[in-house]
Amino acid sequence: MNQLIDQYGRKISYLRLAVTDRCNLRCQYCMPAKGIDIVDRKELLTYKEMYRITRVLSELGVDKVRLTGGEPFVRKDFVNFLESLSFNDKLKEINITTNGALISNYIDRLEKTKIKSVNLSIDSLNREKFFQITRRDVFDKVKQTYKDLLMSDMRLKLNVVVQSGFNTNEIIDFVELTKNEDVSVRFIEEMPFNGKGIRKVDELWDFTKILDHIRSDYKSIQPLESDPSSTSRNFKIESYKGSFGIIPAYTRSICSDCNRIRITATGMFKNCLFDDGVFNLKDFLRAGASDEDLKNLFISTVQKKPENGFVAEANRKSKNVSESMSTIGG
Ligand code: SAM
Ligand code: SF4
Repeated sequence: MNQLIDQYGRKISYLRLAVTDRCNLRCQYCMPAKGIDIVDRKELLTYKEMYRITRVLSELGVDKVRLTGGEPFVRKDFVNFLESLSFNDKLKEINITTNGALISNYIDRLEKTKIKSVNLSIDSLNREKFFQITRRDVFDKVKQTYKDLLMSDMRLKLNVVVQSGFNTNEIIDFVELTKNEDVSVRFIEEMPFNGKGIRKVDELWDFTKILDHIRSDYKSIQPLESDPSSTSRNFKIESYKGSFGIIPAYTRSICSDCNRIRITATGMFKNCLFDDGVFNLKDFLRAGASDEDLKNLFISTVQKKPENGFVAEANRKSKNVSESMSTIGG
């Protein structure tokens, strides 16, 4: 068998790869103001190692890759890496998640790669609020990236982490963006992956609350068909050009159709966002593993993928879910 299938019959075809743990922003829900302890550069997977891991996984049926981080564009030569990854014929789709502050100059080059879609993280349309959330003054750059991406050949999705007391009053403004613009806005439930940034949350804004809030403003919300493995449940306001989705990241109601695995910037293999890493690929590679060794490892590790995020969380060695999303790769 040369495929990645887990004990519940789920076929794994989607890799989320964090290319770095570094970031140029300090989003309050992701890390503390002083940042997180970044690892020594030699502890990061090299591009060559990431290329090899991706190639081997693509021979086992992975055909979609999301590159994330930390901020992927912070890592030197990231666009070169993207270009080389695009030569892999087995990959149907490569996507990126970015905060957009550093990518404006690269959009032409990105259009020539296999990148089909860019997820741009933008949690507020208000400059001051944006600064309060990200702790960095890059609103104009991100806005410019938003405009440039709308004009590009790539699909544009906006990631909006719904933060109680900060941007919940902008949920409708984000939905209104979809009126005239072909953009998909995705509201994400805030999770406790904040690098011990200790966030006191007044109200729980989960999937249901977000949807109810939008429903109270619009009569004509149409559910959209989406791939069962999609992370978001998607909707559209009648006659609007774009769409919106809600990602039940913390509610974990999407686990039964999960097709994803993750590899962190330091090479930790994760079967689930909520596990604490099941295998250190970097050490395995650097000890001289062959492609066959890697394949056997992936097949046997994926088989043990936990049924859902609650089981994965219960099985953690460290009981606190407190690492930053920038180390896990969101
Ligand atoms: N730096 C890039 C960015 O911000 O788009 C990529 C990495 S970031 C970790 C990936 C996504 O995870 C972003 O959309 C971010 O908003 C989201 N994220 C980070 N911490 C989160 C948390 N605690 N809860 C929910 N989403 C989070
Ligand atoms: Fe950086 Fe992305 Fe985390 Fe914000 S969410 S601090 S941009 S890694």
